[in-house]
Amino acid sequence: MSKSQELFEQAKTLIPGGVNSPVRACLSVGVDPIFIDSARGSRLTTVDGDELVDFVMSWGPMLLGYGHPEVNAAAAAAAAKGTSFGAPCALEVEMAKAVVDAVPSIEMVRMVSSGTEATMSALRLARGYTGRSKVVKFMGNYHGHSDSFLASAGSGLATLSIPGTPGVPAETVAHTLLAPYNDLDAVKALFAAHGSDIAAVIVEPCAGNMGLVLPADGFLKGLRAVTEQYGALLIFDEVITGFRVSFGGAQKRFGITPDLTTLGKIIGGGYPVGCYGGKREIMERVAPSGDVYQAGTLSGNPVAMAAGLATLRLLEQADYGALERRTVKLVDEMTGLFMEKSVPVTVNTIASLFTVFFTREEITDFDSARKADGERYASFYRQMRANGVNLAPSGYECSFTSFAHTEEDYDHFLDAVSKVQF
Ligand SMILES: *Cc1c(COP(=O)(O)O)cnc(C)c1O
Repeated sequence: MSKSQELFEQAKTLIPGGVNSPVRACLSVGVDPIFIDSARGSRLTTVDGDELVDFVMSWGPMLLGYGHPEVNAAAAAAAAKGTSFGAPCALEVEMAKAVVDAVPSIEMVRMVSSGTEATMSALRLARGYTGRSKVVKFMGNYHGHSDSFLASAGSGLATLSIPGTPGVPAETVAHTLLAPYNDLDAVKALFAAHGSDIAAVIVEPCAGNMGLVLPADGFLKGLRAVTEQYGALLIFDEVITGFRVSFGGAQKRFGITPDLTTLGKIIGGGYPVGCYGGKREIMERVAPSGDVYQAGTLSGNPVAMAAGLATLRLLEQADYGALERRTVKLVDEMTGLFMEKSVPVTVNTIASLFTVFFTREEITDFDSARKADGERYASFYRQMRANGVNLAPSGYECSFTSFAHTEEDYDHFLDAVSKVQF
């Protein structure tokens, strides 16, 4: 047995499924997970000493690569001064300013410790602010694991084919109205039927949790218009897209201004951070300036703030255009290799994100994403891993490039693709 296998066997006796987050178990790709010992730049080293070029990057946070020296130094310096105070510190103000400066729609922001907390809190605020209960959510979008969002959700739920989950009261999800992604008419119909009860529409402006699915022309703009018409809030869940699709997020790239935005992943620079923010008038309803309660013992944690700030400062100077062009080139070359093998494939990409769907159909929503050949993805994943490349262990996730990936990494990736047998 390898060390990874030994650890996994032990883990399964101690942790449900042996993992602390379901997709990590690699169930849908039919292999055991590998345990990681360390990571640097674009590369993971397993507990068995194998090196993998990584295209998961901790599911997005590591846009600068693993172990960036300036991020590590900032976190270490903060830790040396104290790891948690339970009282305000200067880094929180700096971080808030950095987020407000970068993200067009955010005038005030509240830090939390995960994307789940960010979306859960944003929904509570939207409900408190509008005095309404219902929320429109798109099938295949994932907004973390709080109760209201666990209906037809993407990510691990899509991977494991879990439409909903025991433990969520029917009354709670009854307030969650579902529409197909990119289907503006369906959203309009929901508003026509329930308009005065809808507090918010929440959307991943580029969907990343049913694989990557891009917004159709006019979709986000249409959501902006219909929410305004009915006095509902528009929430952009930018936990993946924030600081990735552009430095100011998808909203900056597409020129749409949501009322509230949730961020996570990248803003923590590898530490547990999320945040929600938006218009001052709405954010001032959050306690203690307002009456909508939300709190956190480790919120605004100084080590996480320092790592996040260092990350944002570096990203502000980074050449997003170059990384996007490099990613497009990789995707084009990979698609060429699939065509040589006559493998039907659709690869969606934007910025430093891509997903390989094994089907010739265009992927525009959860239904079309589900038509991709999951068995073929599983085989692709296993062979790529055997050839030293780590991809998302599910066809319903994105793969990620980063500023740390080198030409050698991309060559390695393409070489591995060319060896895959279908
Ligand atoms: C990852 C993710 C979340 C949840 O964030 P966690 O930090 O895992 O709780 C929410 N929304 C989107 C779009 C995500 O990709």
